[in-house]
Amino acid sequence: MIHILDKHSCCGCEACVQTCPKHCISFEEDEEGFRYPEVDGTSCIDCGLCEKVCPVLHQAESINPLHVYAAKNKCEEELMASSSGGLFILIAKKIISEGGVVFGAKFNEKWEVEHAYAETEEGLKAFMGSKYVQSRIGNCYKETKTFLQSGRKVLFTGTSCQIAGLKNFLGKDFENLLTVDFICHGVPSPKVWRKYLEEMKDKARRAKNSVSFHSILSSRKAMPSDGEGWSIEGISFRDKRLGWKKFSFVLTLAESSEEGKQNTVSFSRMHREDSYMRLFLSDLILRPSCYQCPAKGGKSQSDLTIADFWGIEKIYPDFYDERGVGLLMVNTKKGVAMVMKECCKMAEMTLEESTLMNTPYYYSTKEPAKRPSFWLLFHSEMKLDKISRKLLTSSLLIRLKRRVGRLMKKKKGK
Ligand SMILES: Cc1cc2nc3c(=O)[nH]c(=O)nc-3n(C[C@H](O)[C@H](O)[C@H](O)COP(=O)(O)OP(=O)(O)OC[C@H]3O[C@@H](n4cnc5c(N)ncnc54)[C@H](O)[C@@H]3O)c2cc1C
Ligand code: SF4
Ligand code: SF4
Ligand code: SF4
Repeated sequence: MIHILDKHSCCGCEACVQTCPKHCISFEEDEEGFRYPEVDGTSCIDCGLCEKVCPVLHQAESINPLHVYAAKNKCEEELMASSSGGLFILIAKKIISEGGVVFGAKFNEKWEVEHAYAETEEGLKAFMGSKYVQSRIGNCYKETKTFLQSGRKVLFTGTSCQIAGLKNFLGKDFENLLTVDFICHGVPSPKVWRKYLEEMKDKARRAKNSVSFHSILSSRKAMPSDGEGWSIEGISFRDKRLGWKKFSFVLTLAESSEEGKQNTVSFSRMHREDSYMRLFLSDLILRPSCYQCPAKGGKSQSDLTIADFWGIEKIYPDFYDERGVGLLMVNTKKGVAMVMKECCKMAEMTLEESTLMNTPYYYSTKEPAKRPSFWLLFHSEMKLDKISRKLLTSSLLIRLKRRVGRLMKKKKGK
């Protein structure tokens, strides 16, 4: 039976939970907010199925992509609403048009991230855009199996370890299954995310008239209020209005006034200035397994891998686009059939070129030495803004040294 001794060795895919014939595995959140399996030994029959499907214990061989492209969706609206090159929506729409089902990650009514499925184009909208929080798989592997067995086409999208978990769970190839993963540098803690949202609502309550907030007109429908006056109306981790590389984190909150009207404020910060994004990008709040990822470099055996084509401006400047450029790896023959040159501008590249600035394709993120300090401060109830300033702002002396170094380099260059 599954017994997690080292948290680096469980990516939280939930394949074990969905496989257990005795339903004796529960999934419990730890003090960092990541969920792990716990077996009720009294009901376990020691069948070993939970171990058999685990993508950490049973890792597949790496496969090399057959083709690699720089690619961008030709539809301006779809490209702008997507995080990278707008490739997910093209693939997903094709599956829906063929009567298929699409699985992906979306926000639930509490703005937590979870996997779900859609059977209409309208339903796909919720999956668009990266959500930088670990998603809960729930029963999605079981549901996928049911759809596949009924003959429906299924597109399953997710992190590489979620795809690896699904493949082990299914235990055999299905001709009607297409899988898409993305280059993944790690998933942050749902508990930190919840704390961040609470702090932002608190900020809105205290500082709604301050200069850091500005009212905007929002077209999105308000989500149900959480009863504290402020409710979240929309979240974008990758707002591209300032550009793909200069993406912003945008949180839209709504307040019900006495007249019942909604006062909407939108809080927008460049990713480098937002405390949650800073903590995520500095790798302090990732799941432990992401520092020893079991599914890198083609090990997920997904049909397609999508990502940002970071560095395209250096390799192929004419292809650069401020609205986003995607990277498409076609890993299998099934994937070849999904290359849609009519909806997408594409240029064939080599694997080396496309991963030059995207090393998370091959390598796990290095576990930061300051990670334990983060969790100590987090559990001491310190605010995330303060923690990120404390741990991530280099001291005045270091900044001065760096500036002098840069000046010296410039002088030498002249
Ligand atoms: C946690 C995380 C880390 C990432 N790390 C990198 C990286 O290091 N390098 C890189 O090039 N790209 C990375 N990406 C991928 C990138 O952000 C884009 O999602 C990807 O390029 C697809 O973009 P798109 O424009 O085609 O589609 P989009 O519409 O932007 O993406 C939608 C797709 O992402 C899936 N998705 C969104 N959030 C999650 C989630 N939390 N868990 C599982 N699936 C999710 C949806 O189900 C859907 O399939 C990461 C994404 C996530 C969620
Ligand atoms: S060994 Fe079998 S019964 Fe026991 S927890 Fe694992 S899957 Fe369930
Ligand atoms: S990696 Fe997945 S299958 Fe393995 S123990 Fe963790 S949740 Fe279970
Ligand atoms: S880095 Fe690896 S272990 Fe972590 S979420 Fe991504 S695919 Fe899974």
